[in-house]
Amino acid sequence: MEIPKKMRAARMHEIGGPLVVDEVDVPCPGDDDVLVRVRSCGIVPNLANVQRLFASIFPNLPLPPLPAIFGLDPAGEIVHVGCNVKGLRVGDRVYVNPMRVCDSCTHCVDGNYSSCEYYTFNGYFGFSPKSKEIYERYPSGGFAEYMKAPSYAVVKIPKDMSFDEAARLGYVGTAYAGLRRAKVGPESTVLIDGASGTLGLGGVISALALGAGRVFGVARDRALLREVKAIAPHRIDVWSTHDGSSVDWIREMTGGKGVDVAIECLPLGAPPEQFLACLNSVRRGGVMVNVSGVIVDVPISVADLAIKCVSLVGSTWFEPREAREMTALAGSGLLDLSIFEHKAFGLDQIDDAITNMESRHGGFTNYVIHP
Ligand SMILES: [Zn+2]
Repeated sequence: MEIPKKMRAARMHEIGGPLVVDEVDVPCPGDDDVLVRVRSCGIVPNLANVQRLFASIFPNLPLPPLPAIFGLDPAGEIVHVGCNVKGLRVGDRVYVNPMRVCDSCTHCVDGNYSSCEYYTFNGYFGFSPKSKEIYERYPSGGFAEYMKAPSYAVVKIPKDMSFDEAARLGYVGTAYAGLRRAKVGPESTVLIDGASGTLGLGGVISALALGAGRVFGVARDRALLREVKAIAPHRIDVWSTHDGSSVDWIREMTGGKGVDVAIECLPLGAPPEQFLACLNSVRRGGVMVNVSGVIVDVPISVADLAIKCVSLVGSTWFEPREAREMTALAGSGLLDLSIFEHKAFGLDQIDDAITNMESRHGGFTNYVIHP
């Protein structure tokens, strides 16, 4: 494929401003990079908040340099491979993990990329002031016709996985990695709090893929919860918080013990009470993993954690090895990505797409851009 010099990209020129489609230079990949023709890029429900609010409420979490090309979850075809890159070829269908790191510290060498001081989300935001150095090398995300990416971030996808499905791997993977941290397996009982949302549905299908015997989904919307249960009626039970205490329900469902693992998947703006209900649903010796957007302070009894030997673990995103596991599970049919309904938009419609996400069909809708 001939690579043009110019491409179309949606760019934010000022904080909180609209995304404008501009003609810009195609990125120039380095020797350790690949260049990808982006075919689909997921829109994160939280993107509008990042664009408008992060610069003021999280000044230590840098945004990409202006004019910024966002786009966290891209998938497409490799069109160029740097001379140092092995194992990837032109034409490979890939998911581009947005995780960018230094790739040389002890954590990176050990494959624990999320411990790297330079940890940065390409096309979204960075986790420390050091992210500004990463953005000098990888300034742009997937809302463009082409993007460059380091080879460590690129994951080949199975032939049956569509680019739109691959563009959902980020949210699925966030929950997947959280469940892996808690060592979920066939004997596990798992509570997914916020089960009908974007993160929560990733938790549901990941818990099923990891073999969890019983999955309990808690959320508000009864109609969406019925659809969650329908994914695997014999393994999933659901509860609406409109119908009473989820803690009481979990106790009833587990013979008074509580669940082995709970994963908190609530969105930004969720109240602290529901976080506490999730924590109080964990059995003695169990694990709660927080991957949620809860940003308010939560009054947790640390004495209770000690007395009950309960672990409260924070988790962000996933490692490249977990991305490979997910693509393998999806390839063999164990990770079922067919539950998602894809709504695709062109680059010119990107602001409409971001605004319309509030009317989505819970986490079942997968909003993507086709650049
Ligand atoms: Zn590192």
